[in-house]
Amino acid sequence: MGYASEDTIAAISTPPGPGGIGVIRLSGPKAQEIARAVFHPKSEGTMPVASFLPPRRATFGEIRDPQTGELLDEAVVTFFQGPQSYTGEDVVEFSCHGSPVVLRRVLDVLLELGARAAGPGEFTLRAFLNGRIDLTQAEAIRDLIEAQTTTQARVALRQMQGSLSQRLQPIRQTLVEAIVQMETAVEFVEDDVLTESRTSLLSRLEDAIAHLEEIAAHYRTGRLVREGIHIAIVGKPNVGKSSLFNRLLERERAIVTEIPGTTRDMLIETASIAGIPIHLVDTAGLREATDRVERLGIERSRQAIADADLLLVVLDGSQSLDEDDRTVLAQTSSVPRLIAINKQDLPERLDPESVRALAPTTPICRVSAVTGQGVDELRQHIVEILTSGSAFQPEDVILTNARHYRLIRASCEAILRARQALLEGYSEEVALVSLHDALRSLGEITGEVTIEDILDQIFSTFCIGK
Ligand code: GDP
Repeated sequence: MGYASEDTIAAISTPPGPGGIGVIRLSGPKAQEIARAVFHPKSEGTMPVASFLPPRRATFGEIRDPQTGELLDEAVVTFFQGPQSYTGEDVVEFSCHGSPVVLRRVLDVLLELGARAAGPGEFTLRAFLNGRIDLTQAEAIRDLIEAQTTTQARVALRQMQGSLSQRLQPIRQTLVEAIVQMETAVEFVEDDVLTESRTSLLSRLEDAIAHLEEIAAHYRTGRLVREGIHIAIVGKPNVGKSSLFNRLLERERAIVTEIPGTTRDMLIETASIAGIPIHLVDTAGLREATDRVERLGIERSRQAIADADLLLVVLDGSQSLDEDDRTVLAQTSSVPRLIAINKQDLPERLDPESVRALAPTTPICRVSAVTGQGVDELRQHIVEILTSGSAFQPEDVILTNARHYRLIRASCEAILRARQALLEGYSEEVALVSLHDALRSLGEITGEVTIEDILDQIFSTFCIGK
């Protein structure tokens, strides 16, 4: 895909705030010229500097304001000569000291010298437009940057290396062959040739459908890996919700106290269980509140319960079931849930049968938030519920993106239409229309067929500097 950008873009690529190093990226036809104006390499020792900025070599030097000669920072600068660069055009990366004020000043100077402030994802957009990466790889770069769990990062990395595009390639090939075969058939109208050709054609189409369905089947797991699920922890005050919340997160987050009703605000934290991001919501205790603030907290808990994919109902095992517990169990009966009988380290006073009588189909785990006993089994139970008991292998996931899923489904349906047309004896021309639709949908996934709106939508979700 040919693309020549006219302007040179610049942005701070490292996150806002102070850091050891801050990187400014510059990309475009004037990248070298602008770098030359601000950067002064320091030749170290006796080694002569061969050229101003030898490509792919880190060069140490000074950054100065070309107008005033003022020293702005000392930096390590690397030049990547297009097309062998991230964007496919000339790129200069300035690794400055990670001070927001220094970075801002250096960036301002680059802008004064004719660079333009890059928009979100613009470097990656250029990489795509220059054919350095396809669209699935660009999306994977965004997913990798935003990954919150190691599984998300792993899945994104594989997609960045082209895992999805590679899986789609043979399917596209099959479709292209089917289209060629049909175009040929349209020209040779002898009946016997047609019959034979239709049989092999149908098997080709069925093959493509099967492969696409196989990829689409990954989406359920893929969505779990990408988006995770919301679990709300509910129960009357003081049963150990906050303690269990912290246990599941494996770090202290919620404030644990002995005064009932202290978790008035809701805390949401993300933990990863078996590679699935779990957004845990610690709710205020469910009971009749006496003061206004607590009432507000309880109201929000009700909302969290309504929004959750799964509830973790916590009971105190060291006390017998009381009216408040019964209310909680009754209020949560219509939502997927799991019961944790907590405080197993204390003498048991709660009769599990009294719980089972009120919640006959709900799985029950016995745990202690204090000692950690039973918490692994609780995690295991959560995973089983989320994956409906089917084998869950996040490592195999190749489809996590709703856009890709929709296009794969669209492609599959178009091939099914083509197949139906052939089976019902329609002419090749009719089936050909659907096959071209199928191919176009697959092309949209990788970006071979692009629509301006889609590019805007995708790249606007990137951060600036990427
Ligand atoms: P919440 O109001 O339901 O969020 O309950 P907290 O997590 O604030 O805990 C209330 C009290 O119970 C605190 O004193 C905790 O230390 C205690 N607690 C929580 N879990 C356990 C447990 O498994 N065993 C024991 N012995 N105490 C616990």
